[in-house]
Amino acid sequence: MPSTAPSARVSGPCDLHLHSDHSDGTEPPAAVVAAAHRHGLRTMALTDHDTTAGWAEAAEATVSLGMTFLPGMELSARHEWRSVHVLAYLFDPDDAALRALTDRIRSSRLTRAQEMASRIGRDYAVSWDDILAQTAVGATVGRPHIADALVAGGIVADRGEAFAGILHPSGDYYVDLYAPDPVTAVAAVAEAGGVPIIAHPAGRAGLLPVGLLRRMIDAGLGGFELGHRENRPEQVAVLREIVERHDLIVTGSSDYHGAGKPNLPGEFTTDVAMVERIIAAAHGSAPVFP
Ligand code: AMP
Ligand code: FE
Ligand code: FE
Ligand code: ZN
Repeated sequence: MPSTAPSARVSGPCDLHLHSDHSDGTEPPAAVVAAAHRHGLRTMALTDHDTTAGWAEAAEATVSLGMTFLPGMELSARHEWRSVHVLAYLFDPDDAALRALTDRIRSSRLTRAQEMASRIGRDYAVSWDDILAQTAVGATVGRPHIADALVAGGIVADRGEAFAGILHPSGDYYVDLYAPDPVTAVAAVAEAGGVPIIAHPAGRAGLLPVGLLRRMIDAGLGGFELGHRENRPEQVAVLREIVERHDLIVTGSSDYHGAGKPNLPGEFTTDVAMVERIIAAAHGSAPVFP
């Protein structure tokens, strides 16, 4: 007998991590969806940093192209000096506590970007207006927008060069943004009915301490994004053991940012069965089927 459960309608390939110009992607949500469709994806999530503002446009575009849409977000967190990104799926976008958290992060990002602009402006011909010109109205502002202003001003060739130099955390121009600790971030997503997954958990900064991972699991962590171009295989192997021990969810995704990064839709994908697990575990919002 065919199942009528909504999750049974998920079809692959599935890419659960893409950015639009509501954060640091370079395209509006409908263009991100079009790019995903061109690359053969059947299911996608929009995961802009600290905002859900792109959901409605992305949902409409996916459905019109016969694709399935998962509402998502990449929530900023920090452990000591390092930034930790928590992907959040199918949470309630109106949850008051999570909204308060993202409002606080986005407002801190604004002050921080202005402070970085004023520091950079002492040495380079870049103004706050130049940065605003690279930022869509209402978008979550970040270093990528400052990078784009530096590119537009002919100061660097691309975002990569800006991140390696002027925007590097070890440099004089860098300013920290407010971000919650990873356990608080995970708990906030879980309490909003969503499924939290650590983004690119095995990157250059190394693995988070096992004790912290355990506390995140206790707080409701759903799993790890093990398929991501920045992950290192040796570290992925360590996380796979934790996945098996705790029966966690594993995802793979592109982290597409339009022209802002070389990452292409579908370069890593998530198994349909894992998408179904995310849908079954979440109760904050629903996927949108064509
Ligand atoms: P922020 O959160 O404002 O500190 O900026 C971090 C964001 O910059 C991340 O979400 C990445 O997508 C982006 N980013 C980091 N490194 C690079 C790079 N080398 N090239 C392009 N984008 C980058
Ligand atoms: Fe980003
Ligand atoms: Fe990230
Ligand atoms: Zn991302």
